[in-house]
Amino acid sequence: MNRKEFDQIVMSQQEDMVQTLQKWIRVPSLRDEPQENAPFGPALRKMLDITLEDCRRLGFAARDIDGYAGDADLGEGSDEDALAILAHIDIVPAGDGWTREPFGAQLEGDTLYGRGTGDDKGPLAAALFAMKAVKDAGIPLKRKVKLIFGCDEESGMEDMKYYKKHYIMPKTGFSPDASYPIINLEKGMCGLHLHADVSEDGLQVMELHVGERQSVFPGAANCLVRGGSELIAKVDAVSKQYGWPVKAEQEGEYLRITATGINGHAAYPETARNAIGQLLITLRELGAEGALKVLADVVGTQHDGLGLGIKAQDEASGPLTCNLGIIRITDGKLFATLDIRYPLMIAGEHIHGIVQSNLPGFTVEQKFFKLPHHVPASSELVQGLLKAYHEVTGREKKTLSTGGGTYARMLQEGVAFGASFPEDPDLAHQADERVSIKGLMESMKIFAHAIVNLAGEEGALS
Ligand SMILES: [Zn+2]
Repeated sequence: MNRKEFDQIVMSQQEDMVQTLQKWIRVPSLRDEPQENAPFGPALRKMLDITLEDCRRLGFAARDIDGYAGDADLGEGSDEDALAILAHIDIVPAGDGWTREPFGAQLEGDTLYGRGTGDDKGPLAAALFAMKAVKDAGIPLKRKVKLIFGCDEESGMEDMKYYKKHYIMPKTGFSPDASYPIINLEKGMCGLHLHADVSEDGLQVMELHVGERQSVFPGAANCLVRGGSELIAKVDAVSKQYGWPVKAEQEGEYLRITATGINGHAAYPETARNAIGQLLITLRELGAEGALKVLADVVGTQHDGLGLGIKAQDEASGPLTCNLGIIRITDGKLFATLDIRYPLMIAGEHIHGIVQSNLPGFTVEQKFFKLPHHVPASSELVQGLLKAYHEVTGREKKTLSTGGGTYARMLQEGVAFGASFPEDPDLAHQADERVSIKGLMESMKIFAHAIVNLAGEEGALS
């Protein structure tokens, strides 16, 4: 078969793909309390059943992975050597701010609206129908292609942990749950908890409780200190000096100090500004001593780990990032968290000790640690995927790194591949999540070519 004929077979899947995806979007597949045979609740059970039914309707042998996930096979061969395509059918809550029904699956021209259209039901639909096109075209395969759809990507990836424990997970594959061209490197992660006694000298902080998640740059931070109106002018001076907003207001006999930063995700600090750091620097300028002063000096608003002695970067990964996401004072004890994402070339196991040595008076506890996840650009997998991307779009072959964690990490040799294009707005987890049908069809073509490149017999397409 020649490429043109093959691409026509891919394009002929469009109508069925769109209708199938609309049906999926209408299921609000949110995680809920477990029920029998439904470890993530009834909505995900229903979504899983519908997806399995669609896989079977399209002619694929499909399995229910005990309510944790599902899979569907194209071709023959061992599961271990199969090419895996890993996507997910769970979603995050709709949230506010929608101008369309989040579960209405409204199609306007080329645009389909709804929670899950981009993350990740749309890419899953594109992958499933790419497999259908390969099957319809009768492309001879040298290995199995296994589509795996998990029910718990958004909440903790319990789905894939279960899969790996009870079934045979393929070694190699890709997850269309991020962006093109390809993410073949995820930084390592190190989560630290900091504990210290609060100093009785200097400025007295009566109440401090900021941040809920260590992976989030808090966009606002406030605390209550002992002090009168004489401190208000000092706070104004700090705000002027540093050029970011901090203000102080009298609250009975105390003063409430509020810092406004820019919130963001720990993996992508470039666009964020940590309000906790601003608050710490302000407190130091007002005379805070001890642990608060140390944190202000050593961390402050830095997100590169400079003061902590861990600043590093390599060409493939980009810079180390560090986020002070939570800070609290309870009964004279200070508690804070650091979320560190470190480059491939540095020895992450030393981070804990270096941070400890740069935080006098603190006890530093390592709460989680993950090595970087990397698939070399020269691997057959990365080359086969980039070739497909280039064949279909004519765009540059390029690899990317991320500080985030993707589903691809669940595979020994896994990469994130699509399905949003470089110019697409990032709408995952946001209001008015939507996809272009043209873009999904482009992805379907890319995935179909990727399957041919990585699982097809030599010379399957002329
Ligand atoms: Zn996702």
